[in-house]
Amino acid sequence: MPSSPDVVIIGSGIGGGTLANRLVQHGLTVTMLERGDYLPQERENWDVDAVFANQRYVPAETWLDKHGVAFRPGTYYYVGGSSKMFGAAMLRLREKDFQELEHAGGVSPAWPITYRQLAPYYNLAEQLYGIHGEAGVDPTEPSDVPRYPYPALEHEPVIEQVASALKNRGIKPFALPVAVQRHPGGPCIRCKTCDGFPCQVHAKTDAEIAAVRPALASGKLTLKTNALATRLLLTSDGRRVNAVEYQSDGHIESITAPVIVLSASAVNSSVLLLHSACDKAPNGVSNSSGVVGRNYMAHNNTALMSIGWKINETKFQKTICINDFYFGDHDFKYPMGNIQGLGKLQTGMLTAKQKFLPKFLGDRMAERSVDWWIMSEDLPDPGNRVLLQGNTIRLHYTENNMVGHKRLVEKARSLMSQIGFGLNIAKHMGGLSVSHQCGTVRFGSDPSKAALNEFCRSFDHENLFVVDASFFPSSSAVNPALTIAAQAIRVADHMAKNDFGITGIGNAS
Ligand SMILES: Cc1cc2nc3c(=O)[nH]c(=O)nc-3n(C[C@H](O)[C@H](O)[C@H](O)COP(=O)(O)OP(=O)(O)OC[C@H]3O[C@@H](n4cnc5c(N)ncnc54)[C@H](O)[C@@H]3O)c2cc1C
Ligand code: SF4
Repeated sequence: MPSSPDVVIIGSGIGGGTLANRLVQHGLTVTMLERGDYLPQERENWDVDAVFANQRYVPAETWLDKHGVAFRPGTYYYVGGSSKMFGAAMLRLREKDFQELEHAGGVSPAWPITYRQLAPYYNLAEQLYGIHGEAGVDPTEPSDVPRYPYPALEHEPVIEQVASALKNRGIKPFALPVAVQRHPGGPCIRCKTCDGFPCQVHAKTDAEIAAVRPALASGKLTLKTNALATRLLLTSDGRRVNAVEYQSDGHIESITAPVIVLSASAVNSSVLLLHSACDKAPNGVSNSSGVVGRNYMAHNNTALMSIGWKINETKFQKTICINDFYFGDHDFKYPMGNIQGLGKLQTGMLTAKQKFLPKFLGDRMAERSVDWWIMSEDLPDPGNRVLLQGNTIRLHYTENNMVGHKRLVEKARSLMSQIGFGLNIAKHMGGLSVSHQCGTVRFGSDPSKAALNEFCRSFDHENLFVVDASFFPSSSAVNPALTIAAQAIRVADHMAKNDFGITGIGNAS
């Protein structure tokens, strides 16, 4: 490991991996500390029982909920972070998501940047992650989305029939943009085990495949796996982070660099900041505002199984998306959110969660279901927060803004029953579904209300950045990964210019 890289990044997920990828393109040297290892390529990657019933890839640790009850969080500690398991849906936020927006349950705050400022970086992120999609068909899409790197994945026959039946009812289903290598010559075999599974053939363009591996190939990134960052150590005046302390091979070590970036995911980044409290930062590092750990969000999510009489042989179901109700409709004027195809549900996924469900019944349900992920915005609430109870993480979360979400679930059920799906079973995922965690180290323009400025630089410590889902001041109602990646590229360009005087590629606005 170089003793003094230009930048140290903690975490190799969408935020950290994308940032590293861009920084090495600027010629900077980066050392990355990752608590996990490479996710093994093995038969179990695509084994439903191993992944769902046995939770093979879920970390062994437990967190506590607001009642102090322990649960195993669905967050992932590998090179590539949670994106190793992600569903690969990569959408832009809507332009209005960057503005203050009134919901039935309260106000979603404005971001300190506009859509226009992030748009060039969305373009770059879509290229980096090699997205398949079709511009101009999503009714709420921003107006300037360029052609995607690859054409949209075609629907399989049953989904094509669903899309066409929905169109006949005036709905505008469109092709969900996805990060899989299904272009000619690409390794994707279009399987049934993508969303919620690692890709055994490395065809999903997660953060490891799309960002970290190419950065390693440049020779400018050093990746230290099994290196758990435990504290950020401040300089004596408290204005900068001097070093990162980490555990590796049973030893405590430290590393220093002119710039330190925390990209450990929304929950773990806030934990590290809180855990680094010291004389100079008694409430935690970068926490003079008191917001660190607060405003935790993760979307209001419901899985819907729409069961009809036809056998659904679809393998890759995440090709369809509906945004007709995103900002409301004629009989509900508030935002409701997004409906998208869920990875095809299989019996083992159902029985893993519903132990009482007989297998034969699960088989009949799964073979006839079209499955949906229904996602609405949850609102930032300072009381929804990450806390440390000794060394254990406590997630204090009470759901909010459920009126719009329930309306959306009812819309989806009603639409599906109109097109012939007689049985619609909805399962609300509840507040401990941490997959879309965000908001715990928010960015903003007022240092008394936010921890980071618009470039994710700490207001309190000039050489510290937090670049992962933590920075979101609102959660929107689309999947977060593309926005994390776009902002990571934007931050890299800003950092290269402002911290290292490099003006080459990129142009941070
Ligand atoms: C099952 C599932 C499906 C999903 N589907 C989608 C989808 O379809 N589309 C979408 O946009 N999003 C999806 N997501 C969410 C998406 O994966 C996350 O939003 C994204 O990965 C978050 O990026 P991040 O950089 O904030 O954190 P992560 O990607 O989680 O990366 C954080 C990294 O930091 C490491 N780390 C943590 N603590 C430390 C420490 N103390 N020291 C060193 N390293 C540390 C972790 O091991 C990890 O590698 C899904 C998530 C899951 C779990
Ligand atoms: S659908 Fe393609 S990218 Fe997804 S897991 Fe299967 S092979 Fe991998």
